[in-house]
Amino acid sequence: MLDTDFFRRWMAATAAAVEREAERLTGLDSAIGDADHGSNMRRGFGTVTAVLESESPATPGAVLVLAGRQLISTVGGASGPLYGTLLRRTGKALGESGEVSQGQLAEAFGAGVAAVARLGGAKAGDKTMLDALLPASRALADSAGAARDAARAGALGTVPLRARKGRASCLGEGSVGHQDPGAASAALLMEALAEAAG
Ligand code: ADP
Ligand code: MG
Ligand code: MG
Repeated sequence: MLDTDFFRRWMAATAAAVEREAERLTGLDSAIGDADHGSNMRRGFGTVTAVLESESPATPGAVLVLAGRQLISTVGGASGPLYGTLLRRTGKALGESGEVSQGQLAEAFGAGVAAVARLGGAKAGDKTMLDALLPASRALADSAGAARDAARAGALGTVPLRARKGRASCLGEGSVGHQDPGAASAALLMEALAEAAG
């Protein structure tokens, strides 16, 4: 079973990963966006870490709802509301129990990813974070490690795609040949999950 501390570790590991990889994320965004994805993620998850320390939410669901709300209110870019919705919706779907199973997490995360798709209007193959999140969400039914591997493969798989959503879509063919920054950060989120699980 996964307890509240597991979810705190997941958020802390994500904050550490985006801190470590912020320059790479911004580099990816400078090729097909506005060169701020690393700083957006770093600022957002930095405040997530701070608020989780000061507020000590009591359940797995409450950890993710609080983290999501924090991202929505502190990140100005497209990724803030999208990641915020992912975590908030996943947290709500987890309900109020103090421990959740791997299967419950997989199902709740699926609801979170579906909410991201609804909010942004993107689907698989549009060269967005969903190209990492959708396969990760399916693989999460097996394990966090499988979700990490699926997210990494999904992020690399955005390289040959042409962007149909977000800022990069303005480039048309010019977006081909570059990894989507949001898909790369989604892979970090799933790496952090596997780290928290291991
Ligand atoms: P901004 O584009 O506002 O500067 P960021 O650079 O932080 O925001 O995030 C860009 C990432 O957000 C993209 O790489 C993409 O993965 C994701 N994204 C943008 N628009 C959408 C959308 N409509 N649906 C899903 N993901 C999106
Ligand atoms: Mg950007
Ligand atoms: Mg921006």
